[in-house]
Amino acid sequence: MAISRQQLNDYLQQLLQVSLFKDYCPNGLQVEGAENVSKIVLGVTASQALIDKAVSVEAQAIIVHHGYFWRSEPEAIVGMKQRRIKSLLVNDINLWAYHLPLDCHAELGNNPQLGLLLGWPVTGYLTGDGPTGLGLWGELTESVSGGQVQHQLQEALGRSVLHVAPDDRPIRRIGWCTGGAQGYIDKAVELGLDAYVSGEISESTVHTARENGIHYFAAGHHATERGGVQALAQHLNEKFALDCEFVDLDNPA
Ligand SMILES: [Zn+2]
Repeated sequence: MAISRQQLNDYLQQLLQVSLFKDYCPNGLQVEGAENVSKIVLGVTASQALIDKAVSVEAQAIIVHHGYFWRSEPEAIVGMKQRRIKSLLVNDINLWAYHLPLDCHAELGNNPQLGLLLGWPVTGYLTGDGPTGLGLWGELTESVSGGQVQHQLQEALGRSVLHVAPDDRPIRRIGWCTGGAQGYIDKAVELGLDAYVSGEISESTVHTARENGIHYFAAGHHATERGGVQALAQHLNEKFALDCEFVDLDNPA
């Protein structure tokens, strides 16, 4: 099946409720390519390797969580940025990027998908509410140890997970927010959670965890943000019978 660029764009904007979000990047079509789309490559980040893959499988579109044109980045299209955008334009490939909308979406978002992968119930949000509520927490039916959570994360994500343990207190209330959301450990502390999981870690995260008596797990920015685009690939395949391929390019960060 094929779908027009316009139709796919309209569908994604509505599905992911893009207009509700204030973000650090434009969400939606970032680089315009072919008018019709039948083959889509999905990945976490629009790196050169992902574009090269899309070229090799003759995809007309790429959909990612991390696109381009972040608020803080230099605006000129030179160097690495020029090479990436040139590859897209020369090969007539559309690039769609969804950042916060693909973290928060109630079904397809990175956060619900991580909870689903780990079998954690959802009780509430870390911050905000409703469609734009970011980060989740849940109350487990039984208490588990920090070591058990670390092991479970490692098995589910296929990588090592850094665990900062304040002590051997059991975990019942656990919060999570995918990617570089280590700063939200403060929200987890405010909510009185026993543990908090994100992708990355900062030097200060360790002190916050120790001094507030909360377990912290850094499970990988890339590793925790694979769920959203994978769920979206499956959704678009089922909805429009598009040929959607999730490409996982290893990233240790
Ligand atoms: Zn991210």
